[in-house]
Amino acid sequence: MLKFLMETLAARHVTLVAVSKTHPLEKIQALYDQGQRDFGENRVQELLPKYEALPKDIRWHLIGHLQTNKVRQVAPFVHLIHSVDSLKLLLEIDLQAKKIDRVVDCLLQFHIAREETKFGLDEQEARQLLESPEFAAMRHARIVGVMGMATNTLDLEHVRAEFDGLSAIFQRLKTAYFQEKPYFREVSMGMSSDWQVAVEAGSTLVRIGSLLFGQREG
Ligand SMILES: *Cc1c(COP(=O)(O)O)cnc(C)c1O
Repeated sequence: MLKFLMETLAARHVTLVAVSKTHPLEKIQALYDQGQRDFGENRVQELLPKYEALPKDIRWHLIGHLQTNKVRQVAPFVHLIHSVDSLKLLLEIDLQAKKIDRVVDCLLQFHIAREETKFGLDEQEARQLLESPEFAAMRHARIVGVMGMATNTLDLEHVRAEFDGLSAIFQRLKTAYFQEKPYFREVSMGMSSDWQVAVEAGSTLVRIGSLLFGQREG
């Protein structure tokens, strides 16, 4: 499965993030040995020991909800934070990244699903954040795109409409706020059940867990 996904996605210039949450080091190392370098975790407590134990050229993606009091622990090494859903969180990322003289790349997470439970901004909230003086002053947290999770449904036409909606938000924000900023180019969408639909809708990063690792353990 890994080789098929790597080849299919590379041909479309889409990055495969292997979501390794709940899976042990050996399984991650096995994918690494086949050439996979981007891995995603959703909990800081689980990410830290994995970062310590595994090869240092892994690009770690934080894909789950992040609490401000955990930012300091991941700022030194995280490759991309997919789940920024408030100015408060972004300010903390900027602060902690500044302390260690790093720029931390982030995505704004959007609420695009029908489910109530998923985290994320709506477009209006994102615009407020991007127009704030606090954001204008940031030098160490950089927004490089958007992220969203579709409704968990077998109705792929519904999923497609949600992904198209996220792509449209990305385009509007790019036009309004990131005209001369080529780094604003990532659309993180698509998981095991809907990655093909996501790629058709313009995804640049898919986050795939169970399709690569099998069912989650715990
Ligand atoms: C777990 C998770 C995934 C991967 O889900 P699969 O269905 O196992 O591919 C993707 N994105 C986020 C935010 C997740 O928490």
